Amino acid sequence: MTLPNARDFSHLYSEETKARKPSPLKTCIHLFHDPNIIFLGGGLPMSDFFPWDNLQANAALPPFTNGIGSALTGSKDDSLSLAVKKNEASEGDIPLARALQYGFSAGQPELIKFLKEHTEIIHDLKYANWNVIATTGNTNAWESTLRVFCNRGDVILTEAHSFSSSLSSAEAQGVACFPVPIDNDGIIPEKLEEILDNWTPEAPKPKLLYTIPTGQNPTGTSLADARKVEIYRIAQKHDFLIVEDEPYYFLQMEPYVADVKAREESQSGAKKSHEEFLKSLAKTFLSVDTEGRVIRLDSFSKVLAPGTRLGWITGAAPLLQRYVELHEMTIQAPAGFTQTLVAATLNRWGQEGYIDWLIGLRHEYTLKRDCALDGLHKYLPKSDAFKVNPPIAGMFFTVAIDASAHPAFATKFNSDPSLVEKAIYDKVIARQVLVVPGSWFKADGETVPPQPQSSKSAGNPNEIFFRGTYAAVAPEKLLEGLKRLGQALGEEFGITS
Ligand code: PMP
Ligand code: PLP
Repeated sequence: MTLPNARDFSHLYSEETKARKPSPLKTCIHLFHDPNIIFLGGGLPMSDFFPWDNLQANAALPPFTNGIGSALTGSKDDSLSLAVKKNEASEGDIPLARALQYGFSAGQPELIKFLKEHTEIIHDLKYANWNVIATTGNTNAWESTLRVFCNRGDVILTEAHSFSSSLSSAEAQGVACFPVPIDNDGIIPEKLEEILDNWTPEAPKPKLLYTIPTGQNPTGTSLADARKVEIYRIAQKHDFLIVEDEPYYFLQMEPYVADVKAREESQSGAKKSHEEFLKSLAKTFLSVDTEGRVIRLDSFSKVLAPGTRLGWITGAAPLLQRYVELHEMTIQAPAGFTQTLVAATLNRWGQEGYIDWLIGLRHEYTLKRDCALDGLHKYLPKSDAFKVNPPIAGMFFTVAIDASAHPAFATKFNSDPSLVEKAIYDKVIARQVLVVPGSWFKADGETVPPQPQSSKSAGNPNEIFFRGTYAAVAPEKLLEGLKRLGQALGEEFGITS
């Protein structure tokens, strides 16, 4: 079956994108690599003057039998020794002379080829002209997205609580983040539709929905698959693009089993096959998209290492070309060392080896999540005022707190939940543990003229929450931290358990 091409979304471009003329010098850069051409066209330093002859590294070797966290012994069983040369790199490697030169703003071909194959394994793309470009991670990809599509005074839709840097990035560009109500399964489609159906006609309509579907930051929730289909239909009806920021996509875990014995039994079974693993992954917006209105941001930050500063965008080729033109004038390209090292590792692992890594990661995060939930159940004061929603993906847990259950809510805090939040924050720090207040992540953008009152997030006004992570520390420290958290909350609310 031949797939159709993506629809044209150029009407959603920003003034900046419409005004951008591609750098004329970039139109001839590809000829630099044509051996028949004597290239006198650009200020490219000669690679002979790059002081590196090769790039060598030892990395973990699939199938990571001892787990992905175990130290390498250096033996052939667990260690991959790789070396990439300057000029004649072997197939699949990016020769250093090219990686460290100008050019290939969309990413080096060897890396892009791997990422495209990976995309075909993970997603079920339903239009023909999709593409992949490299980024320096999702921070960069999101900032570029705003610049490609939004103008000052525009509004976008975001989860009612969302990643604070992403909100700040939009706000700094003069873009308001209008909150969409969420529950334990993510964005509530009915609420989203209600907001848009009742949109104040004089206000600009949102061009983008920014969502973190898997292991949402900060709430730790994951958007239910069926909701993705609904939200996509609403995007079609109201003509906006969906930007899925998915750094935690591969941190999807087994369901939490509170009974330790039953859990051990369920986890001692045979390791998941690749097929089972792939089948267990959440449906992506990219897989729902028939028109090219989804832009997916992926990152190696949480899967390999944040300092790789490497990620990729998947979407319709004409849209991605606008990003490349922007990147030619901003990042140029992700660093050559990074692309070389990551591509060399991944191409030696192969797609299968990479999936082995992702399966290993899932296992480790499941253990960490389980440890955190066990600790929370053990140490949180026994009261209905505190609720934990077991995350099925990502790095975060949240403790939702009914501020009105505080004995001094009406007196000391004047029935203001934000003052209770501040008191808890001070208390946890005094107890030497750090979890962060939910209010730091609140999206509260508004349009001019404003949206009707009925479109404003409702929910329980006295509910506050704190975000913690189980990713950053070893289990003993995690449990000690949760114990301190429980003590701080018990002390603040006058509950002794
Ligand atoms: N500014 C000027 C004046 C330049 O000539 C160049 C390189 N041609 C650049 C900036 C780009 O520099 P970089 O590679 O450090 O981004
Ligand atoms: N987007 C979200 C939702 C995140 O939580 C993070 C990491 O903290 C990022 C983006 C940043 O990702 P990157 O390291 O790829 O820039």
